[in-house]
Amino acid sequence: MPDQPTPFPLPTFADVCAAAQRLDGHAHKTPVMRSATLDQRTGAHIFFKCENFQRMGAFKFRGAFNALSRFDAGQRKAGAIAFSSGNHAQAIALSARLLGIPAVILMPADAPQAKVDATRGYGGEVILFDRYRQDREVLTREIAAQRAMTLIPPFDHADVIAGQGTAAKELFDEVGALDYLFVCMGGGGLISGCALAARALSPNCQVIGVEPEAGNDGQQSFRSGTIVRIDTPKTIADGAQTQALGKLTFAIIRRDVQDVLTVSDAQLVQAMRFFAERMKMVVEPTGCLGLAGALHGGLRLQGKRVGVVVSGGNMDLQRYGEMLASGL
Ligand SMILES: *Cc1c(COP(=O)(O)O)cnc(C)c1O
Repeated sequence: MPDQPTPFPLPTFADVCAAAQRLDGHAHKTPVMRSATLDQRTGAHIFFKCENFQRMGAFKFRGAFNALSRFDAGQRKAGAIAFSSGNHAQAIALSARLLGIPAVILMPADAPQAKVDATRGYGGEVILFDRYRQDREVLTREIAAQRAMTLIPPFDHADVIAGQGTAAKELFDEVGALDYLFVCMGGGGLISGCALAARALSPNCQVIGVEPEAGNDGQQSFRSGTIVRIDTPKTIADGAQTQALGKLTFAIIRRDVQDVLTVSDAQLVQAMRFFAERMKMVVEPTGCLGLAGALHGGLRLQGKRVGVVVSGGNMDLQRYGEMLASGL
């Protein structure tokens, strides 16, 4: 599809390369892993880009660190603010600490204590709010204005997208061109960055987004050509419980992504079990979307070179054990 003009500038592959330079020496170059068993079973050559081994346990460190690295002196002094109960919170807190920037994270008062502790442990100032009474976006903007802090959203931000794209850039740099790249999809920051890298480094690669069945807003948006908003979906893939794609991510996805598939929670648990049993990796449910999409999405992978982005591995261990043992 030819490039469609947008009324706002989109990040480019050059931005992904600039992000890679900023991340050099700060982010881990995560390993690319293989499974002979899976290759044999599928007849494909599958390359897993293991962002569960990234700093703080997910690719989100890439986007957060890149965005904060670009702050000017005034922004550094006042600091960064984010609202998130998930990996973005920890990514901002850790990146801010490494760069010597103050960070405020708004989290719902009923967020798991482990996540609040982890974010505080990375040095972030956590402000709890009542998600039934307070609108977190309004509250974040108020605090941001009071303290002159810069708001870094979890996906719809050019520097965040460019940072996330460095994961795919590393993958293509290491293994060369691919036929398919399967990417977990929530608000679409990861897949849009990866699609920018794919377009430049492996132009014939089909970039496929994978969402939980219950949260298929991205698929609906992709197919209808307009951003579709849904109620917060019920799924074990908590990193993909976003209600809608962003303006920037949707524009890139429309242009550079070939399809969006969905998988069931049971298929995610199956993939989680596969990672644990065969590859000895702890992968959170959202991180299993890519593999589940590759295995159950109906695409013929025989003889193909297939990349799968494993996006993260942060998860409450008790829940992890319960899911592995469950009948799902
Ligand atoms: C945030 C997150 C996603 C979704 O990323 P988007 O950029 O919102 O599409 C996927 N997996 C994990 C582990 C995440 O933390």
